[in-house]
Amino acid sequence: MTGIRLDGAVVAITGGGRGIGLAIARELSAAGARVSVGDIDAELAQQAGRDLNGYGGFLDVRDRGAFEAFLKATEKALGPIDVLINNAGIMPAGDFLAETDGASDTQIDINVRGVILGCKAVMPSMITRGRGHIINIASMAGRIAVPGLAVYCATKYAVVGLTETLREEFRDSGIQFTMVMPSKVTTELASGTDEAGKGVPTASPEDVALAVRDAIEQQLTDVTVPRYLGPVSALQGITPRWVLRGLRRTLGDRRILEQVDHQARAGYTQRIASLEKPVPTLKADVKKSVKKTVSKSAAKKAV
Ligand code: NAD
Repeated sequence: MTGIRLDGAVVAITGGGRGIGLAIARELSAAGARVSVGDIDAELAQQAGRDLNGYGGFLDVRDRGAFEAFLKATEKALGPIDVLINNAGIMPAGDFLAETDGASDTQIDINVRGVILGCKAVMPSMITRGRGHIINIASMAGRIAVPGLAVYCATKYAVVGLTETLREEFRDSGIQFTMVMPSKVTTELASGTDEAGKGVPTASPEDVALAVRDAIEQQLTDVTVPRYLGPVSALQGITPRWVLRGLRRTLGDRRILEQVDHQARAGYTQRIASLEKPVPTLKADVKKSVKKTVSKSAAKKAV
């Protein structure tokens, strides 16, 4: 399989308006790539597109139509997409039972469905061209359980599973699949975790961007940031559970649950809460017909 040369390559990045996605866009643009930034915050995306002499526009990764429109606009502005970076993601933090269904659903929709939709939308043309690279931004939380991030971990474990499976299912397609697993990164997503995250290996968005650049240039498959965390997940798989549990207690693995500074996190929490879609309610006429059907079948049973 031949790798993608970044110089002149067309790279689309989801959630590239700020944080890790924006750092990736800047790094790859500096390496000569033509970058396209999609974000639900359209203004930030457009600004990034202008700053980097590429393309920037609205994208909600939960919406197939929006995804296809963004990719089409990218191709029109820059040419066929060589690399897709599925980066958009959110992370509510706290007690599992206190998390609203809306917050859980939104994470699943953005962090998992968004990545699935992105892969489905871009892969057919990559298969036709016999080349392409898809990079999914997972997390160390996709390998290691973190109390206080149960649903977030579930979504990142899903991204790990999806990436590993696609890599095998499409191994002869010419598409390279990479998953990037950062530990804590200093973006708004991690705000309010200064105390809770003490001692946790921490990277900058630029560190992650460099790792993504390496992944493209060197065709890497599984990339942890920092790199030295690579063996951790493998060790976890062969270490007896009671040893792991003891280690967890010693290291204080409940700190996200118990020590997150929710006040310092308020701005971020508000931003991601605004992404929740209204839960559909049964309309009055639908409710009536449901009632009718139920009472009819009850009458039948009685006969
Ligand atoms: P961030 O909040 O700084 O940036 C995320 C961007 O995604 C924002 O610009 C936001 O507007 C955009 N976005 C959110 N929902 C979207 C949607 N539906 N469609 C399109 N865009 C959307 O967060 P970040 O720290 O840069 O996170 C980027 C990725 O890295 C996420 O997948 C996250 O899970 C992962 N990650 C982050 C950390 C960390 O500690 N920051 C660690 C490991 C993995």
